[in-house]
Amino acid sequence: METITFFTGFNRRNFISRTARGIFAATLAPEIVRFAASAEPMGSPAPTPTSAAQGEPLPQDQRVGFALVGLGRLTQGQLLPAFRVSKRAKLTGLVSGDPAKAQKLAQENGVSTESIYDYKNFDRIRDNQDVQVVYVVLPNSMHADFTERSARAGKHVLCEKPMEVSLMKCQQMIDACRKAKVKLMIAYRIQYEPMNRAMQRMVRDKAFGPVKYIESDNGQRVEKMEWRLSKALSGSGAVGDVGIYCINTIRFLLGEEPMEVFARTFRPPSDPRFKEVDATIIWQMRFASGVLANCMCSFDTYDTKSYRAVAERGTFGMNPSFPYHGLKMFAKPEQPPPPQIAESDQFANELDHMADCVINGRQPYTPGEEGLQDQRIIEAIFESARTTRAVTLPRFDKLDPFRGPIPE
Ligand code: NAD
Repeated sequence: METITFFTGFNRRNFISRTARGIFAATLAPEIVRFAASAEPMGSPAPTPTSAAQGEPLPQDQRVGFALVGLGRLTQGQLLPAFRVSKRAKLTGLVSGDPAKAQKLAQENGVSTESIYDYKNFDRIRDNQDVQVVYVVLPNSMHADFTERSARAGKHVLCEKPMEVSLMKCQQMIDACRKAKVKLMIAYRIQYEPMNRAMQRMVRDKAFGPVKYIESDNGQRVEKMEWRLSKALSGSGAVGDVGIYCINTIRFLLGEEPMEVFARTFRPPSDPRFKEVDATIIWQMRFASGVLANCMCSFDTYDTKSYRAVAERGTFGMNPSFPYHGLKMFAKPEQPPPPQIAESDQFANELDHMADCVINGRQPYTPGEEGLQDQRIIEAIFESARTTRAVTLPRFDKLDPFRGPIPE
């Protein structure tokens, strides 16, 4: 598997020697194998433990079947194509409020008509043996309802970020999946993306000495009125939609949890887009090790998606860090240069991890508890902005208190 070479024993010295030998490019170049998604016949056998983790594409009849709930932009633009390059997942169901759209996408993606559901008859999915995982890709405030219904139907759940709109609903999702003994993974694609994982190793292995400071931003312009601008449907506007990348990635890089948050928000008074949610939010996070972080997110700025860590002897990061394509790493001093890592399909990586967890009975690397912790920080951001005071968060003494085993 391409990442193992890089993630074992990373430090500045072997970083220099490996880079000089050109090993990064050779060992990390992903092998992209394209498969046409095709529906399996009803009643195909449940997957059995395999050597899928070694990276070989599984034959269709051994793959884990996923149903997508919500056929909007993310599903059509990214997830349907990701099934075609996935090595362990296959698309076996679609759930939509729009029958014509569902029928068209089912035909184009090899899903049988019997495996199309709407929001009302969704619970019948319990009888569909071809579906092992339900992937929830709906507006944020609908995540808990479909997660709980999926768990009751005996299906594992992969749920888009942000997990939900309140701590209570996040906890309900965790409880429902635990009760039904099904897996719950939050779709934090950055944590499965090889360049961001390389950055994590540089932080954890102190490639430039201990990190002292991190800054991160994720801004874009939302031009049209849509659910993202509704408080009820989005929960937290730009913070849960884009700011969560800054929160989650900094936590992922450090493995630590923030002990304190301080925030400010801005909402232009006469702009109809920002009647219910803020336009721009800035916040700081303080970690027990002494690391300080500065973050910004917005629905009203030029596209900006980056982070930069400043360590004792250098600075490194990614710009851009969070888009679907074109990610770039940097490090200064430039000797050694950042590793050469080929682009991979971030959504296929994520699907394959979930499939691997189902096949081999593993806990996802980003389980429900990971999403709940981000929600706790999001709520602290709004409390701080409201009270203009720093908000203290619960302390967690161990690193990675919420993550499962590191993906292979
Ligand atoms: P979208 O608006 O394009 O699609 C939402 C889908 O939900 C549509 O098919 C719509 O018909 C359906 N829907 C059902 N009830 C609805 C309602 N009451 N209001 C609005 N739509 C309703 O949204 P999207 O961009 O696909 O986002 C879906 C989820 O995916 C969100 O949770 C979002 O945060 C997440 N997302 C994640 C990423 C990522 O990179 N991981 C990127 C984009 C979106």
